[in-house]
Amino acid sequence: MEAIIQTNARDVLHQYFGYLSFRGNQESIISSILAKKDTIVLMPTGGGKSICYQVPALLSEGLTLVISPLISLMKDQVDTLNANGIPAVFLNSSQSISEQRHISEQLKKSAIKLLYVAPERLFGGSNPLIEFLQEVPLSLVAVDEAHCVSQWGHDFRPEYLKIGTLRKKFPKVPFIALTATADKRTRADIADKLELIKPQWFISSFDRSNITYRVTPKLNAMDKLMEFLDFHRKDSGIIYCLSRRNVEETAEQLSAVGLSVLPYHAGLPRETREKNQELFIKDEVKIIVATIAFGMGIDKPNVRFVVHMNMPQNIEGYYQETGRAGRDGLPSEALLFYSYQDYMTLSRMLDQAENKDFVEIMQEKLQRMSSFSQSNVCRRKYLLNYFGETHPDECGNCDVCFQKGKQQDMTIPSQMLLSTVARLGEVYGLGYAILVLRGSKSSKIKAEHQELSVYGIGKDRPEDFWKKLGNKLQQHGYLAEAGSQYPTLKLTELAWEKLKGKEKILLPMEESFSEGKERKL
Ligand code: ADP
Ligand code: ZN
Repeated sequence: MEAIIQTNARDVLHQYFGYLSFRGNQESIISSILAKKDTIVLMPTGGGKSICYQVPALLSEGLTLVISPLISLMKDQVDTLNANGIPAVFLNSSQSISEQRHISEQLKKSAIKLLYVAPERLFGGSNPLIEFLQEVPLSLVAVDEAHCVSQWGHDFRPEYLKIGTLRKKFPKVPFIALTATADKRTRADIADKLELIKPQWFISSFDRSNITYRVTPKLNAMDKLMEFLDFHRKDSGIIYCLSRRNVEETAEQLSAVGLSVLPYHAGLPRETREKNQELFIKDEVKIIVATIAFGMGIDKPNVRFVVHMNMPQNIEGYYQETGRAGRDGLPSEALLFYSYQDYMTLSRMLDQAENKDFVEIMQEKLQRMSSFSQSNVCRRKYLLNYFGETHPDECGNCDVCFQKGKQQDMTIPSQMLLSTVARLGEVYGLGYAILVLRGSKSSKIKAEHQELSVYGIGKDRPEDFWKKLGNKLQQHGYLAEAGSQYPTLKLTELAWEKLKGKEKILLPMEESFSEGKERKL
């Protein structure tokens, strides 16, 4: 029996999707559904989740209902399915009454294999679809982006909670819940809130081993970006910015140096957005500079790099966005610029949200994102651990790993800088501490700090050196930013220990985007 199903599944995969074999645990997932078991799938972006319910949909009699949160995503999926000769439709509020009626008729005639719908359309309105579906033979219910059911998720949608009521309404139909991002609490919620019965879990590794992770302080960001792009001259990539204005400015700066680039954000007219996206997908334009509005449901296999000019709100978002790189499995890169200012901006934005419980959870997630950025643990280890996976070894393919073994003895200048911060009472930022350290002749600084033993002791070295050292000391946990109005620096426990014990301070000072490049050859 199993063998027959699997042969059929492979035929369907080949005939409708043009693929020769299943990937990862797609095949076991499909068997679980065909055995009518509730199934939960955790698979990273690009892992191939859709096949897991699309193939069973074609192998079963009746209709597969796909619940998905995003209208734009649905249309895209349905278009692709139709192009492969699969009868699929979506229903949403943007369609005319007659269009909707036409679809209902087709559904009644069992002419459709997959119906995509948002939960609002399923349960809401004067004519909820759910009533209608009682009359149609259902073979499977697929809940896409299932993390939306959880308050712990980064993308909670209250309407998703109603999906739980479906389980009892269709007792004989198997349910499959799929997501690319779920920490432990969210996972438990998915099974619970969707009221799944003894679900079979399929958890793929979240490791995207072909992606090189790099995080760098946002200092001379434009120069660093140019250097990075220099390694990607012919490549496609996405550059994310927090605001529309940043998108526009960055896109202009990059065009000005002759790069093939277009902007994308919600403030642009729809036609412009669609055109820009289209050009990017067709490789007619190489780089898209965008807000996070861009990328949902875009299936472009050869994205070679994803840059975050600003820190994302949480690790889930970061992983999802960086996951758009390298879907084809070839070496790709993710570069994140970190700054304390961005952290503060995001934190303030979050505080404005109304639901206070939600604010607390999101602040916690932001905190984790920020510690990730500043941590000197192997990036991959950190990320996988966040998603509940253990990665035994250092990955050898992230900035932290590249810097290991390239340490320099920076004890003396570090002591100078740390002492300056301490003597200044830990109430100033890095720039100010450097002015004092280099013995600035400004009358204010002279008047207030000339008497300090550290005044001017660092004048032999240029400002840039001190800035870089300050950033390294921060990155490696010797200095921490504090303060809400202005970022001020303070010494960490680690720094005090090193100073008191007169211990060596070793830091990797040379950072280059060429590290790890040899892997490409
Ligand atoms: P997800 O929803 O997990 O992000 P998708 O379902 O969009 O991923 O699939 C990602 C890409 O992988 C798509 O281009 C898809 O067509 C492709 N894909 C999925 N399964 C296979 C397979 N078995 N063999 C080859 N390519 C596959
Ligand atoms: Zn690593």
